[in-house]
Amino acid sequence: AKEAGRGAFRFYTEAMSRAAQDRLHLDTRLRRALERGEFALHYQPQIDMASGRIIGAEALIRWLDPEEGMVSPARFIPVAEESGLIVPIGEWVLRTACAQAQAWQAAGHELSIAVNLSARQLQHADMAIRLAELFREFGLGPGRLELELTESMLAGDHAQTEARLQALKALGVELSIDDFGTGYSSLAYLKRFPIDVLKIDQSFVRDIPQDRNDMEIAATIIAMAHTLKLRVIAEGVETPEQHAFLKERGCDAWQGYLRSRPVPADEFEQRFLLCSDA
Ligand code: C2E
Ligand code: CA
Ligand code: CA
Ligand code: CA
Repeated sequence: AKEAGRGAFRFYTEAMSRAAQDRLHLDTRLRRALERGEFALHYQPQIDMASGRIIGAEALIRWLDPEEGMVSPARFIPVAEESGLIVPIGEWVLRTACAQAQAWQAAGHELSIAVNLSARQLQHADMAIRLAELFREFGLGPGRLELELTESMLAGDHAQTEARLQALKALGVELSIDDFGTGYSSLAYLKRFPIDVLKIDQSFVRDIPQDRNDMEIAATIIAMAHTLKLRVIAEGVETPEQHAFLKERGCDAWQGYLRSRPVPADEFEQRFLLCSDA
């Protein structure tokens, strides 16, 4: 039986798909990228619908690979999640975002930074303790950091998840649900967990105003969020028509290419914090 097992293993190795090899290779390169400091955070402005003011920035990771150039997080984050490398990468993201939040806080800018969190990071029992340490190290006041979670992270062991989210809230962190409406989970978690913000997924924004169903979905998410005393932010806003529709329906804030792509911190300051880019 042992021999057969070994044979099967060899067979598997030889037959290993090109995709799996690519993944292995990518994981090795990601490790090296972390050591060599090849990651950067770009920031996309989040804009208050009523006033047009910049109220926040979503931090989005970028990898400048010396061989391939800019590699999309959509390609490497899933690989890092699978291998567990997302934990040190996520730690780097949090530290870098906190350092940036400190700089903007010191310069008198009233904005929060929203960081995308992976399931594995939330599963770490000492996540809230680590964040408390970072807040102390960088002297961050409450409301400076938001964490974006996805619906799938809120399924599973409810008591434990609730305790973890409460610990994060106790630090003055706001919690958002990213890609809202695209998960398969029930909405029960909205009652149970201390959520502050729903982010309307860009798939419901993209085809406004051509797709009546998407318009109804977006409007319904806004109405429901307000009933539950949650704020709502639309992502992927690319056209004035989309912006006008969401504003008319009472959406609180938005982000999207209509205002800006995610940009490096220095460009963000120049365009959105130092002078008015109206
Ligand atoms: P996401 O969190 O849903 O981020 C929104 C994505 O939409 C970003 O892609 C952003 O650049 C893009 N986007 C923003 N405005 C528009 C628009 O008007 N139109 C269109 N078509 N797209 C727009 P990006 O930066 O490539 O990130 C992809 C995903 O990678 C993110 O989706 C997020 O799930 C993940 N990700 C990025 N940074 C991090 C990170 O630091 N940690 C973790 N765990 N995941 C991250
Ligand atoms: Ca996000
Ligand atoms: Ca999203
Ligand atoms: Ca996403």
